[in-house]
Amino acid sequence: MSEISQVSALGSLPSLGKTARMPVLFLGHGSPMNAIEDNAYRRSWQALGAEFGVKWPRPKLILCISAHWLSRGWWLTGMAQPRTIHDFGGFPKALFDQEYPAPGFPEAAQDIARAVHQPGSMAALSLDMSEWGLDHGAWSVLKPMFPAADIPVIQLSMDYSRPPAEHFAMGQQLKGLREQGVLVVGSGNIVHNLRTMQPGAAADQAFDWAHEFDTTIAGYLSEGKLAALQDFQKLGAIAQQAHPTYEHFLPLLYAAGAVEATQAPEFFNTGFQAASISMRSVIWA
Ligand code: ZN
Repeated sequence: MSEISQVSALGSLPSLGKTARMPVLFLGHGSPMNAIEDNAYRRSWQALGAEFGVKWPRPKLILCISAHWLSRGWWLTGMAQPRTIHDFGGFPKALFDQEYPAPGFPEAAQDIARAVHQPGSMAALSLDMSEWGLDHGAWSVLKPMFPAADIPVIQLSMDYSRPPAEHFAMGQQLKGLREQGVLVVGSGNIVHNLRTMQPGAAADQAFDWAHEFDTTIAGYLSEGKLAALQDFQKLGAIAQQAHPTYEHFLPLLYAAGAVEATQAPEFFNTGFQAASISMRSVIWA
């Protein structure tokens, strides 16, 4: 299906309007400290953000799918001013002091909620007006990218009780947003096992199973085998080790769903944190 027919499938949303096609991102976010530490990951987010408005249009809206917002059914943040959520423990006060006061975009949230349906039904997405906001999966990467916090952000939740195929199907529904000024950002990690972390490990140090799962997934992406991502659990033991729980993998399914299999990805931040968290990030530009 062509990009154009996808746009017509979603429909032109009154709150947005046609633009040149936006890239799609999957960002490995790793430790929340990446939000404030000067390191290679954060510097890459800063450099990437600076390309918008130069290489690509400045987004009218960022739609972020974070590993950290799990729900029953699928929800969009619909408030005008989403709060910054500090959804972690045991980190320095400097991290809790972080705020990311990007506005919401209530009109666009309503339009998207109507245009996109809950997988397996024709029901609209639900709108959250007060509970959520921007969790650290969203703001820890968006703050370095867009420090002025002047681009509206909407988060889309994930129903973790539903199978991976439905998450990929949700991503496919987002495709038409790319030509309406929306930057789709999946934020998770391609390998994410907190139980086996080796703090202080160098970026090129990782467990064999972590390397194997990471390179297998990178191969799927490079070869355009995007639908195969839904079946990651069939990779067996390495999938189990890479994702004892798989909420950090799911945002990749949304990003991959929103692109054409023929569009070549580029990888960056291809290192590991603590030997069991892959920071591999993907841009389909
Ligand atoms: Zn996380």
